[in-house]
Amino acid sequence: MGNCCPPGSSEPEPAYFGSSRPVGSATVPPPASLSPSAAPAPAKPPAPIGPVLGRPMEDVKSTYTVGKELGRGQFGVTSLCVHKATGQRFACKTISKRKLSTKEDVEDVRREVQIMYHLAGQPGVVELKGAYEDKHAVHLVMELCAGGELFDRIIAKGHYTERAAAALLRTIVEIIHTCHSMGVIHRDLKPENFLLLSKDEHAPLKATDFGLSVFFKEGEVFRDIVGSAYYIAPEVLKRSYGPEADIWSIGVMLYILLCGVPPFWAGKLPISMIQSKQKLHDFACIADQLTTS
Ligand code: ADP
Repeated sequence: MGNCCPPGSSEPEPAYFGSSRPVGSATVPPPASLSPSAAPAPAKPPAPIGPVLGRPMEDVKSTYTVGKELGRGQFGVTSLCVHKATGQRFACKTISKRKLSTKEDVEDVRREVQIMYHLAGQPGVVELKGAYEDKHAVHLVMELCAGGELFDRIIAKGHYTERAAAALLRTIVEIIHTCHSMGVIHRDLKPENFLLLSKDEHAPLKATDFGLSVFFKEGEVFRDIVGSAYYIAPEVLKRSYGPEADIWSIGVMLYILLCGVPPFWAGKLPISMIQSKQKLHDFACIADQLTTS
């Protein structure tokens, strides 16, 4: 999910609705085979349909062991999880249904799942392995990005050389070109939403958090103000934009890579858009160091 401004409800039906893999668990184990002599087990009553994903409810903990917290956003808490049958490690983002207070919040989660399934298999996008819904929450099981956020890597480095920034930017542009060519605008591009597959210096980069993303058709104009302070494009604030709004955000990221601080301080944006005081503080510390050195 995104962190800031929720989209309005005025959007048309997603252009790609239904063309992605079906919403629901992609990792359901095959049923245990019955010996011919075994008496047929009494039929279990079907699981109730979950109101968010529109699929039978299923307990994620029957397939995965959910472990320590990896990170959290406004809507979700992401934890390490292990596939019980194979021991493979994944990340599980749990979105509490208590936080989905409006119809739009529910639609956002549904759309996030659809978009992640639609983009599954693209190497620059965090892969969704399965989506589960139980009585209390929706759980998105994703490939594990053990290297953490690009944001933290930038903060640790201070800033990048032009050559290193160019190489990283090429990767980011390629990833977003893939999203756009598959009919998806991300709408919340920022270093926090790019994760590194491992702690390795040259670890692959993966786009994540499609909670504010949307399917689009050529020429379609969007009017919802969504995104994050610092990175939001002026045309989004003017309520008339398309996929180019993502390119503006990438431009802001490039500035930050080169200088270590944002190009704009978002002073006039509503406080609700400034989603992380800690991150503001991190940037402010670097700005202080730059001005005093
Ligand atoms: P929200 O939509 O609530 O903002 P995010 O999708 O941004 O949640 O996830 C919150 C944090 O959880 C991320 O910033 C990151 O630190 C961690 N996280 C999310 N997905 C993964 C993943 N696939 N692998 C490892 N950590 C993750």
